[in-house]
Amino acid sequence: MSRPQILFPLFAGLETLEGVGPKTAKLFTQIDVEKPRDLIFTLPYSGVDRSVRKTVLGVVAPSIVTVEVEIGRHFPPHQKGRPYRVNVEDAETTFQLVFFHAREDWLKKQLPTGQRRLVSGKLEIFDGVAQIVHPDHMVTLSEAGDIPPFEPVYPLTAGITLKTMTKAVRSTMLRLPELVEWIDGPLLKREGWPGFHEAVNQAHNPVGLDDLVATAPARVRLAYDEFFAHQLTLALARRVMRRGKGIVSLGTGKLQSKVLASLPYKPTKAQERAIREIAGDLAAETRMNRLLQGDVGSGKTLVAFMALLMVVESGGQGVMMAPTEILARQHLRSLQPLAEDAGVVLEILTGRDKGSERAAKLKALKSGNIHILVGTHAVFQKDVEFQELRLAVIDEQHRFGVSQRMELGTKGLASDVLVMTATPIPRSLALAQFGDMDVSVLDEKPPGRKPVKTALVSLGRLQEVTDHLRDAISNGRQAYWVCPLVDESEVSDLTSAEERFTHLRALLGEGKVGLVHGQMPVAEKDTAMARFVAGETSVLVATTVIEVGVDVPNASIMVVERAEHFGLAQLHQLRGRVGRGEAASTCLLLYQGPLSEGGKRRLEILRDTEDGFRIAEEDLAMRGAGDMIGTAQSGVPKFRVADMESQTALMELAQSDSRKLLHDDPKLESERGKAARVLLWLMEQDQAIRLITVG
Ligand code: ADP
Ligand code: MG
Repeated sequence: MSRPQILFPLFAGLETLEGVGPKTAKLFTQIDVEKPRDLIFTLPYSGVDRSVRKTVLGVVAPSIVTVEVEIGRHFPPHQKGRPYRVNVEDAETTFQLVFFHAREDWLKKQLPTGQRRLVSGKLEIFDGVAQIVHPDHMVTLSEAGDIPPFEPVYPLTAGITLKTMTKAVRSTMLRLPELVEWIDGPLLKREGWPGFHEAVNQAHNPVGLDDLVATAPARVRLAYDEFFAHQLTLALARRVMRRGKGIVSLGTGKLQSKVLASLPYKPTKAQERAIREIAGDLAAETRMNRLLQGDVGSGKTLVAFMALLMVVESGGQGVMMAPTEILARQHLRSLQPLAEDAGVVLEILTGRDKGSERAAKLKALKSGNIHILVGTHAVFQKDVEFQELRLAVIDEQHRFGVSQRMELGTKGLASDVLVMTATPIPRSLALAQFGDMDVSVLDEKPPGRKPVKTALVSLGRLQEVTDHLRDAISNGRQAYWVCPLVDESEVSDLTSAEERFTHLRALLGEGKVGLVHGQMPVAEKDTAMARFVAGETSVLVATTVIEVGVDVPNASIMVVERAEHFGLAQLHQLRGRVGRGEAASTCLLLYQGPLSEGGKRRLEILRDTEDGFRIAEEDLAMRGAGDMIGTAQSGVPKFRVADMESQTALMELAQSDSRKLLHDDPKLESERGKAARVLLWLMEQDQAIRLITVG
């Protein structure tokens, strides 16, 4: 399929627009405008009232005025560097037009004495004289129509003036085609939105400030168009993902109840609900494509394990992929004993498996002798074959984009998919990033969790901190000490983990302190980790490799050094490593003053709340959606008109409407379906276009 012809003029080079040459076209890219299409969605952010008045008399300066004048005497400068002045007279008073570095012959031609002109610009008082310096507009009366009574103001960049921009936009408007409506008729009517063509015209020709606000009907409609195209893409991806898997997995509950009986606790209500929802998906003919959202420590692993057991109960296999080796090994440690008791074979596969050992595992996997495989991304390597893979769990992922999810679906992996987030994400981001999935939320933590006391401590008080730490470990407590970077050379003033390790060892005793960081050989990392888990070391100095998922209940102190360098979600993740055991827990955020405004705010939010959902909302408010999602992999487009944060309800509407459209018209063949295809092209959702035929 290729782009519909009707859209060609909008995807031509910018130089095809009036007033745009190759040089200007290049400058336009600085404001993300590469083709005429981009100008449609680059809307004015402000406007200037240029309605014509009779006189400037009585105007409170400074103020923009538009007035008809008769040109009077010219006063060229006596001296270099002085301004050129032109007397003008309106219906009731006189004032001056002022020009610096002006060419006399040009001004004489533009403003011939005795003739009438319409001028517009900012009226100011200088030395008691009313004047306009460099009027924005000077036109003859017959050209008066060129000055719109309310002039839109666009985002600009060096080299692109408002005039250039306005001209380019006008030129784009002239080639704007009439497109068949893709929005559901009743919806359009109910919301009172204009058609696309009309909406674009209104948005670019505001008649007052009311037309510039995000809630103006024309703007809401264009925002909806952006959301709708994106959600339609996700809906198409969803359909590809859900396409008949052929196998219905009905768990018997036998293995699950064995495991549950051997646990020292009962699942929370939220865990039970999520397990039920997953069981429903596994039992359905369509493939599961579900996101499990939950705060740090809400017990996502147990939910995943129950899901894996369900497929084993029904005769299949399951795989769980963790983002790091450490985490994969932790899953092995915590789950293997449970699995063994229930007679389930659970194995690990990571990049470290080589040679005959790896070959043996692959063979066992293919013959069905391994029921559950945990591991890193190595579990999805080409030569890893299962006898009957029915469920893939992706643990602790923020960044598992829609295209990667689809890859799982399209590259022959016909199994159900469960993705688990590392920390909660706000509703708006979940919709934009995971709108193709169904969502389960663990909104409840296991009982008995003690709050973590969080304090902000200046690095100047390091000595106090280490004194406190020495006392604590002599009472049998364990602590993490997190440093931002491994190698001092990377950023000279950040303490490296290695240096802090040496320092703490000297202070607390050789054998008491361990170290893990990203650049370490894996075997050393594992040993250090294992010694900490076994309680042989009391303090674990680490970089953020321990950020996600690590679970050592006896560790009750978390020190984060140079905490101002970490993001909110990251700090929340780190703090989530403590507060898991009996002892009261502490999190010390060590910072180097003076703090930036943002750094201070982040640390204060963390001090004030432990609620991951609230922290996520604050993070969104501070950073904005684009930054939080990290565009490259996520597949979420950069919306030009729509705003995810303030228009979440609109995005929700786009989601349900796009799913409904695909349900009613799976091949997008109806008139509206065809129009929606044009929208996908217009919105550059190429990925989606490919999926129409896949469905
Ligand atoms: P996360 O959601 O961050 O991945 P985990 O699955 O690692 O959380 O669980 C955190 C801790 O809570 C683990 O030690 C786990 O054994 C424990 N846990 C899980 N569910 C419950 C429960 N229902 N009651 C008590 N403890 C639980
Ligand atoms: Mg986890």
